[in-house]
Amino acid sequence: MQTNRPDKKWKAGVLGATGVVGQRLVQMLGNHPWFDLTEVAASERSSSKTYAEAVAWHLDAPIPDAARGLVVKGLDPSLDCDFVFSALDSSVAGPAEEDFARAGYPVVSNCRNHRMDPDVPLLIPEVNAVHLDAIPVQKKNRGYNTGFIVTNPNCSTAGLVLVLKPLADAFGLEKIFVVTLQAISGAGYPGVASMDIQGNVVPFISGEEEKMESEPQKLLGKWDGSRFVDAGIGLSAHCGLSAHCNRVPVVDGHLECVSVGLKKIASLDEVREALRNFEVGAELAALPTALKNPVVVFDQEDRPQPRRDVNAGSGMAVVVGRVRECPLLDVKLTLLSHNLVRGAAGAALLNAELLAARGFLKHRVTPSESRLAEPVSR
Ligand code: NAP
Repeated sequence: MQTNRPDKKWKAGVLGATGVVGQRLVQMLGNHPWFDLTEVAASERSSSKTYAEAVAWHLDAPIPDAARGLVVKGLDPSLDCDFVFSALDSSVAGPAEEDFARAGYPVVSNCRNHRMDPDVPLLIPEVNAVHLDAIPVQKKNRGYNTGFIVTNPNCSTAGLVLVLKPLADAFGLEKIFVVTLQAISGAGYPGVASMDIQGNVVPFISGEEEKMESEPQKLLGKWDGSRFVDAGIGLSAHCGLSAHCNRVPVVDGHLECVSVGLKKIASLDEVREALRNFEVGAELAALPTALKNPVVVFDQEDRPQPRRDVNAGSGMAVVVGRVRECPLLDVKLTLLSHNLVRGAAGAALLNAELLAARGFLKHRVTPSESRLAEPVSR
């Protein structure tokens, strides 16, 4: 297993580094014990500028010094890094991620484009680390050499599935009904116009309900050695989950009101205990961004709240409250997760850490390094 300080850090690039997810990644990489940020890439609007010039920085902490002077590149897969994070707009992420994987770069993606591909892991390390077994099959299918693509789920799916996992393991899942109240930072920058969201709720987020109804089936399902097999919540791929997604005037943090039908009868105390006791093993606990207990359960009747609780566990915890009986299904609860950390940048970072710990990230030899390594001819 990887120790907390590798002999040599891996060089990381961020595609889409100027966006709201990209900025979080740049911030989280600022002082990372395993990864050094060496490359940033974005659109033609930003390329050739320094990162500090190109970015409309939104975070309270300043731009990390290591990033300020980096020159923003385009999407040519010839960056000086060992792997890339992708936080690209989905209009360009699909082919760009394939280009990087084909050129030999492991791609750790936030984007929706390849999430449901039959040979691409959709990964939450605490939930389905075993899905990484699909990587050799993906490489073979696509003729990739050292490159591959791993994705993290949609920001609202991430919080939901972390809470469903211990319930699935302890009691089995029958049906899930979820209503989301999603933050505006989930729409990127500039995102939803202030005239549309100020003092308002928008009861539509394009494609979001479909993602919430399909991604949990893959995440909670199995890799059978050649393909992913859906968890089969309910009778078919979609009918066990129903989602209503709403955009609300909150900056960060997606709140979700969830009703769950369980296969096995459980008391409310047993449900709370299953959530509280959800604990990762030693391999995951050693990853720098991991929490030993990724689900936090509150007993106060008016929590979680986005403004107060979004940064629990440095944004990597899912906070659960209001666990109570549901007259329609078995149990209902409210959960909160940080859409840009647990649902995006932190999720990708944790995925990259697991890939590093399992030996999937290699140190790439750049053309200039390989020339230096050549024996001098006499
Ligand atoms: P965003 O703020 O709109 O940022 C988009 C990024 O993509 C920017 O860096 C932008 O560069 C770059 N880009 C746009 N068009 C490009 C092009 N033609 N060529 C190269 N780069 C281009 O979006 P975001 O919210 O950070 O989301 C990034 C990705 O993560 C999306 O796929 C999104 O669906 C996914 N995601 C977002 C969240 C969230 O909570 N926001 C959560 C999970 C997943 P410029 O600045 O140069 O335009």
